[in-house]
Amino acid sequence: MFTPGREAARLTFFGLFALQHRGQESAGIAVSDGGLVRMHKDMGLVSQVFDETILSGLPGTMAVGHTRYSTTGPSALRNAQPIFCQSVVGDIAVAHNGNLVNTVSLRHELEAEGEVFDSSSDSELIARLLVRNMHLGPEHAVAAAMRRLKGAYSCTVLVPGMLIGFRDPNGVRPLVAGTLPEGGYMMASESCAFAPVDGVVQHELEPGEMVIVDADGMRFAQGAPADRKAMCLFEFIYFARPDSEMYGTLLYSARERMGAQLSVEHPIEADLVVPVPDSGVPAAIGYAQASGIPFREGMMKSRYIHRTFIAPDQKLRERGVRMKLTPLVPVIRGQRIILVDDSIVRATTTKQIVRLLFEAGAKEIHVRITAPPIKWPCFYGIDMCSKDELAAARMTLDEIRDHIGATSLGYLSITGAVRAVGRPEGEFCLACFNGDYPIAVPDEVGRDPFEGGVEVGRMAAVNKSQPELLHMD
Ligand code: SF4
Repeated sequence: MFTPGREAARLTFFGLFALQHRGQESAGIAVSDGGLVRMHKDMGLVSQVFDETILSGLPGTMAVGHTRYSTTGPSALRNAQPIFCQSVVGDIAVAHNGNLVNTVSLRHELEAEGEVFDSSSDSELIARLLVRNMHLGPEHAVAAAMRRLKGAYSCTVLVPGMLIGFRDPNGVRPLVAGTLPEGGYMMASESCAFAPVDGVVQHELEPGEMVIVDADGMRFAQGAPADRKAMCLFEFIYFARPDSEMYGTLLYSARERMGAQLSVEHPIEADLVVPVPDSGVPAAIGYAQASGIPFREGMMKSRYIHRTFIAPDQKLRERGVRMKLTPLVPVIRGQRIILVDDSIVRATTTKQIVRLLFEAGAKEIHVRITAPPIKWPCFYGIDMCSKDELAAARMTLDEIRDHIGATSLGYLSITGAVRAVGRPEGEFCLACFNGDYPIAVPDEVGRDPFEGGVEVGRMAAVNKSQPELLHMD
């Protein structure tokens, strides 16, 4: 946030609140009044980490904020963001969304050159690289850092008198920039962060592009040459909020179209189309409209339980499903149900939901999924575990159907999902669906390579036949 004449921390808080779905482990805001950077970050949700008193203690007209979902480095306060560093131009703070794939080699290079790290996250590497190059000036420092980074990164950087945002050369993770009423600018991972502060999106950054905001206004520059576009298809299917726009498309509408296409690819006779709330709702509406089968809500979701997919361990995930969803028995009982959800990753959640609905009296449950089968790990910032944990990597479609206990199972095709978004297939990362990684993944990749003194990453053999652990920030 760049908010001349107004406190940036409060606006950043509301923007972060809208981005809570992108990370629920920790949250932080760093502010600057042009010189000194003040920061507060802690474990927990945005609403748990900040209150009036804390926000009042963060004066300044420029700020960056972050919500974390861990993919490299564990969920711990030392890995929370923004990352604060001192540089030759003054204090800086960095927030990173994505996941680097050259974390291990880059960290060893920098350590050999005398760098000392405070955390085990890949994001600190970005901050350290920026600091080392800050004598070139902030914009050149960003460009120099981008030359050495490999992987997925959308970042915002607070430097004295200036905010810079930049996106990796493949544009894997989203980043948008825009204006604020009464003057000012903001940048955010998703456009949904703009509405609470009356911001207006002006530009979705292109791969390799940077945005610079200072007293002279907002301008754009190419920080690194663009590589082939490879935006994460999973953002469109599940991860991003449905009221965000990406590639110029409202995700809610794209998900409706995915549901409609699913009904064409996997038709079935049934009485009701029921979504898994909330993420399955638009696709279920699309399926119902295209098939003519009535849409009904068949489960109520507690508003106060986090997304189970993001919970860091399996025990929490399993407990989470029953705490989160309650079937509407009179709606479900005796019905042939088409159950629409966005994805099956480990199949833990789907299995429990199918069981819940059968226990509620459903006669048949036909599971329809808008994500194509996820067979490969993600190394670019979505926590989709090792290949061993991915249901579609170790089971056939029939085996998954039996495992989750469904009457039938159908996944949307890659072509169908891409067509629903409305951009050419070559503009997406589809690696977790087809194993075609747009950014080469070195053998070094591991989730927590710098925890406990054991360089897990060095031992991880990551290739198509033996994929490994996966991560994100
Ligand atoms: S591998 Fe899958 S989840 Fe990861 S960036 Fe690519 S499409 Fe997205």
